[in-house]
Amino acid sequence: MIYGQNTNKQAKLRFAPSPNGLLHLGHAYSALLTAQVAQALSGNFHLRIEDIDKHRSKKEYILAIFRDLHWLGLQWPEPVRRQSKHMESYQKALDQLGQAGLLYPCFATRGDIKTYWQDKTNPPRDPDGGLLYPGFYKDLKPQKAQARVQAGEPYALRLHLDRAIERAKQLDRQESLTYQTYQAHAPLKPVQPTQVKNPQRWGDVIITRKDIPTSYHLSVVVDDHLEGITHICRGKDLQAATDIHRILQVNLGIAPPHYHHHDLIMWDGKKLSKSQAHPSLYELRKQGLSAKTIRDAANNGIKSLEELMNRM
Ligand code: GLU
Repeated sequence: MIYGQNTNKQAKLRFAPSPNGLLHLGHAYSALLTAQVAQALSGNFHLRIEDIDKHRSKKEYILAIFRDLHWLGLQWPEPVRRQSKHMESYQKALDQLGQAGLLYPCFATRGDIKTYWQDKTNPPRDPDGGLLYPGFYKDLKPQKAQARVQAGEPYALRLHLDRAIERAKQLDRQESLTYQTYQAHAPLKPVQPTQVKNPQRWGDVIITRKDIPTSYHLSVVVDDHLEGITHICRGKDLQAATDIHRILQVNLGIAPPHYHHHDLIMWDGKKLSKSQAHPSLYELRKQGLSAKTIRDAANNGIKSLEELMNRM
């Protein structure tokens, strides 16, 4: 095991945006709530930039994240961890998973997966809405896979989920794949352990992409551990991912932080997103909205922010 128990006792929380667009009110809520929990636990609030996606991450968005969060009144210690600068940390964890026989190279393209499901009216989808990976290459003989890798064919590394779950269950018999959840509003105490629900709905997730030697799942688990994060506070849209994170943590010998998955701000029945035409914090500020109004609304919860949104 390269990762031991997390001995850091002082509470440490992080807000970890990906710089692939401008922050919106949903991010503001998440960041403010995270900072509030840190304060309630007499702990620290950190910022992490999750910029592994070299195609979508932009420097201007990183600068905008700093600007918008400062405007909201948030502060954090420097230096800010940027994932793109820590590839060697992910490589170590990757080696560990590989040595345990939990990874296999996959040469499939998105097109291959689409073609596979094309005749099916309601093809199965993973929790992010992507078509479920049907497991091509899972049973390819290692020598054959190796030959294709050596011939220079592009490949992703996927998690052999069945094996990873099986191994995690053996390693983690007592915990039986649970994690502690906490309430983000007073009283701040750990609540009942939550059982990992149904990781199979993800299929064999990608652990390193064809173009990037890591993935969201791998880097977030490694960073939360290396940074000594004790409490995670993030949106319900990432709750299903926690199943995968938990399985990775057990297989890497990483002690889990406590989790809170907060409600999402909805607008016209959809969650706010960077890609849809939802106003960014920057635009709201230009329209004259003050940081105090957002902070006050955030203190009153999601509904209050939704009302604010509807007034814009
Ligand atoms: N970087 C992720 C995002 O922007 C969040 C990661 C996390 O909080 O676990 O959606």
